[in-house]
Amino acid sequence: MPEVVLGRIHSIIKLRESVATLSAVEFDTVTNLYTMAAFSHHAEYMFQNNIEEEYSLFSTDIAEFKLINSVYGEKMGDEVLKFMAKSLASFIPNGLLAKQGDRFYCMYPATRKLTEEDISEFSVHFVKDAPIPNVVIKYGIYENVDKSIPVSILCDRVTMATAGIKRDLTHNIAYYDENISLKQIRDQQMEANFEDAVADEDFVVYYQPKVDINTNKIEAAEALVRWMGKDGKMVPPGEFIPLFEQDGLVHRLDEYVFYKVCEFQKNRLEKGLRVVPISVNLSRSSVYFGGTIEKYKKMVETFGIPMELVPIELTESAAIEGVRIIHLAEDLVDAGFSLHMDDFGAGYSSLSSLGTIPFDVIKLDKSLIDQIGNTKGDVILQYTIKIAQRLGMKVVAEGVENIRQIEFLKAAGCDMIQGYYFSAPKDQKTFEEMLEQ
Ligand code: C2E
Ligand code: MG
Repeated sequence: MPEVVLGRIHSIIKLRESVATLSAVEFDTVTNLYTMAAFSHHAEYMFQNNIEEEYSLFSTDIAEFKLINSVYGEKMGDEVLKFMAKSLASFIPNGLLAKQGDRFYCMYPATRKLTEEDISEFSVHFVKDAPIPNVVIKYGIYENVDKSIPVSILCDRVTMATAGIKRDLTHNIAYYDENISLKQIRDQQMEANFEDAVADEDFVVYYQPKVDINTNKIEAAEALVRWMGKDGKMVPPGEFIPLFEQDGLVHRLDEYVFYKVCEFQKNRLEKGLRVVPISVNLSRSSVYFGGTIEKYKKMVETFGIPMELVPIELTESAAIEGVRIIHLAEDLVDAGFSLHMDDFGAGYSSLSSLGTIPFDVIKLDKSLIDQIGNTKGDVILQYTIKIAQRLGMKVVAEGVENIRQIEFLKAAGCDMIQGYYFSAPKDQKTFEEMLEQ
């Protein structure tokens, strides 16, 4: 009798499981589903006892659940969670279910394939019958999970996949794939290698000239960092700056670049060579770190160089940080720095900030320059240049790639250009040679 055997196995499993008593609470009080600790334990047990079987992991994430709690009250919030628990139990009857906050996980045999149609149908029913209207749910799927990895990490992986569509109105289902974790591994490696890279001077400063649009002479430059990997490959900043902006390492990197540029200027001054201002990028996430301005000022004083030689490029940003950016900008100017607004015309920058933030220079973003030749784009550029200059700012055009753009910018009164047409960013030696010419 197979059932009898199965029953016996189950009771043995139960027994064994109770021996390995779970330290954590086993059931969630609202839904009676497993807590994460219990879920991991039971899922791992299930893997061990069904070596041949493949499993998939499904997750649901209720969007803006905190908002639901505050608008409808926590009691109603609990009702939504209970309804989710019930709906999932009937959607995947042979699955192992867990709840963590407003997120649910279900481990089920991979023989059951959940198609997008299945999930859409589930979603439609859920939204229709839920205790409150307009619930939005994000779904995650990780098919044929890697059973050699702890269940908590499997859950992290599927959560990571849904995080990617959090603000995406057009997608509600995310699939976990190995590439996501490859990126994560790479990011972790870069973070782990950061200290060594600083110590070994693997971060190298490149210099991109800014030339006077009328004389064609190099009058300034921008410092742009590159990471020289131990394998000899050069990593562009686009691959690590966004990561370091998230984890906070960027302010250390910015400081390092600033130091190197001060040192460079100091050396040239000492040798009596020609110097031009070299601007340094300051990540806007530095608004979250105190002491940046004092540190930078101290560095300039220690090197004994004029402050005009190291302007700061700052990107304006989203409204939430707006107030802080204004303070940071004002403090920088009070400390004596020359401030350049980076990427003007891209993303969050706005005309009104030209009136509130004391920039000396605005840098027209490449996306505006790319519009040259398009009638409306031309008008926008012509007037932006006029407005900036009426407000006493100099205008630098970024990403200038051809002569037609230069002719237009010259006619519009732009002061300086920076771009591949004149020169890409160069290593220090090459840049110094260019300065001598
Ligand atoms: P950004 O400050 O807007 O710098 C200009 C970027 O445009 C540079 O890219 C430069 O190489 C590129 N560029 C210049 N002329 C042209 C052109 O004619 N055509 C094209 N297609 N591109 C051009 P890069 O060096 O890859 O730097 C990317 C971004 O990384 C920078 O944008 C800046 O936001 C950030 N970054 C670089 N170094 C630092 C740093 O030390 N600290 C911080 N916080 N950010 C940095
Ligand atoms: Mg810049």
